[in-house]
Amino acid sequence: MVNSYYYNGNQYIPSTSGDSNKGFLVASAVSSAILGTLPLFGKPFERQLAKEHSQNYLYKDSFLNSLKVSGLDKKGVRIIPMELSSAMNDYALGKNAAYFPKEKVVRINTDKISIAGFHELGHAMNDITGKLGKFLSKLRWPGRILAGWMGTVALFSRPKPKEAPKNGFDYVKDNCGKIAFACMLPTVFEEGMASYKGLKLAKKTGLAAPLIKNMKKLYGKALLTYIGHATATGLAVGAASMIMDKFTRPTKVETPEYPFFLI
Ligand SMILES: [Zn+2]
Repeated sequence: MVNSYYYNGNQYIPSTSGDSNKGFLVASAVSSAILGTLPLFGKPFERQLAKEHSQNYLYKDSFLNSLKVSGLDKKGVRIIPMELSSAMNDYALGKNAAYFPKEKVVRINTDKISIAGFHELGHAMNDITGKLGKFLSKLRWPGRILAGWMGTVALFSRPKPKEAPKNGFDYVKDNCGKIAFACMLPTVFEEGMASYKGLKLAKKTGLAAPLIKNMKKLYGKALLTYIGHATATGLAVGAASMIMDKFTRPTKVETPEYPFFLI
């Protein structure tokens, strides 16, 4: 114990740069293993979405009509039918649909996944008419960026003994997993709201009950994807942080309460 030191009457051995390198490697491996589970959360949604292609005709007219029913057409929202595009992206292929707030357009293959379009119009409603929805959608990107930063913060060393006074950054380091999870929540809530509004709109447009039921299933699976992302992000950051703590926090030297010779 060459370089041990005393703090608050306790003896500590600081970690070495070798410890923090090892911690970094283990923490990176564990967090990427956790993040590697992400595609699993999206599988049920992708599978159902692919199946929806065959019954698209049941949803298409209602979806195209719903732009008017929602009043979004008067607010400048347009649907861009991507089946007419020569692009070979996910939108044209019917693997994804999205609302683009700056252009106020929904890009969607209406020959394949009209069922997903109501949800995208739900995003448009969040963005244009809803106060809470707009607020949440504004928080999405900053939240995701901040969650990414938490992943970096988790990999910092913990040079102070546990009982040393904490500053703001120590607090962030100690809670980076929870903060990362919280940063992902605006996305989850905004997605949930878009689905809720999309379902309501589909009912208003007159879509039959069994079709609504099937839509609910699909939207539930989509939400599961986002919940999975938030959870896995929080867990990956939290695990990295715990590992770095284990490897780099100064070790307290436990001294027996009574000197041995008295026993
Ligand atoms: Zn969405």
